[in-house]
Amino acid sequence: MLHDRDRIFRNIYGFHDVGLKGAMRRGAWDGTKFFIDKGHDYIIDEVKKSGLRGRGGAGFPTGLKWSFMPKADARPSYLVINADESEPGSCKDREILRHDPHLMIEGALLASFAMRAHTCYVYVRGEYIREREALQRAIDEAYEAKLVGKNNVHGWDFDIFVHHGAGAYICGEETAMLESLEGKKGQPRLKPPFPANVGLYGAPTTINNVESIAVAGEILRRGSAWFAALGKPNNTGTKLFQISGHVERPCVVEEEMGIPLKELIDKHCGGIRGGWDNLLAVIPGGSSVRCITAEQAEAVTMDFDALGKLGSGLGTAAVILMDKSTDIIAAIRRIAYFYKHESCGQCTPCREGTGWMWRVLERMERGEAEKREIDLLFDVTKQVEGHTICALGDAAAWPVQGLIKNFRPVIEARIDDYQRKHARVAAE
Ligand code: SF4
Repeated sequence: MLHDRDRIFRNIYGFHDVGLKGAMRRGAWDGTKFFIDKGHDYIIDEVKKSGLRGRGGAGFPTGLKWSFMPKADARPSYLVINADESEPGSCKDREILRHDPHLMIEGALLASFAMRAHTCYVYVRGEYIREREALQRAIDEAYEAKLVGKNNVHGWDFDIFVHHGAGAYICGEETAMLESLEGKKGQPRLKPPFPANVGLYGAPTTINNVESIAVAGEILRRGSAWFAALGKPNNTGTKLFQISGHVERPCVVEEEMGIPLKELIDKHCGGIRGGWDNLLAVIPGGSSVRCITAEQAEAVTMDFDALGKLGSGLGTAAVILMDKSTDIIAAIRRIAYFYKHESCGQCTPCREGTGWMWRVLERMERGEAEKREIDLLFDVTKQVEGHTICALGDAAAWPVQGLIKNFRPVIEARIDDYQRKHARVAAE
């Protein structure tokens, strides 16, 4: 269990002053210049040593990502912060934006300095209007206090701009985000080249999630060893978990990485509606990961490696719990519709496959399918997964695979039921 003294986000519920004074009282902007004076490589090394892995879903080591940026390049370097939080179930970055924005702004300065960038863009999800306003207020305060801007007190010229998206999920994909920032249609780019070489406006760019950036200041203040000692090896630090669905009290909470899922739910959410015996399935990392069964959920810990071993993933740590009242086929069908709707349409397996999977699931939900179609559907998910420009293809395929892998008997029973009913009607 995470002790209060180890919390990074001390105003995640907005109970205290969200302004600059309040943030400073909680420790933000303390010692920032001291770390900058230690140099670019010091910051990157500390973040590397902390073991911080990207909090946007992929879990790539943050310090390593920063080290990919060129040390000497005639082009400007950019930091882009991904605040396009659109994965169904995810709602943590919004709490940082509206209640603890100074942690992110300070982290943006530190990360930009580490990567020799003077400019940062924060790409905010289109629906996050109040969050964007709160962030802009905090940025204005930081400019006013000369914490950022030209000739600021830290001695590193740094501008930070907020860009408001238009509500397309695909703009959360890093290269689609760059296209959108450049004023083009938000469609992912082929990689390579990777953004660290050719990113925003053709210049070196690193894209990081809000939470990854917001924890940077505290990692430096308390030391990489402190962060690395929390959680589990290879899954260090604290994490914002977002729990929704059939629990008594859905919430966003900061906890140690690697906390058992059962402890997370019982301690912070008042347990499962109707008790653990009433649990059917859990989507542990946002709608794109494969669901796990109630049995697996009772034993699993919440970290990249443990969930990866189950064929699922930590993703953004957006935990969606479904009790036995859930029609699991309908739930996955609804998720499939989301990905179909959000596909940018550039590549055929995704454009055609997402719609095809959704339509088949629609029939399966009604039982109006053949059992052999279950394997066919699985086969199609495999033809989409890994065969597309960006990860939206995988994100669409994995929930369907989780359904078939863990709940095939439910689909078969639905088909049997439908056939029984229709055979009876035909006989009458
Ligand atoms: Fe667009 Fe889908 Fe291809 Fe990604 S996988 S580029 S969303 S069509």
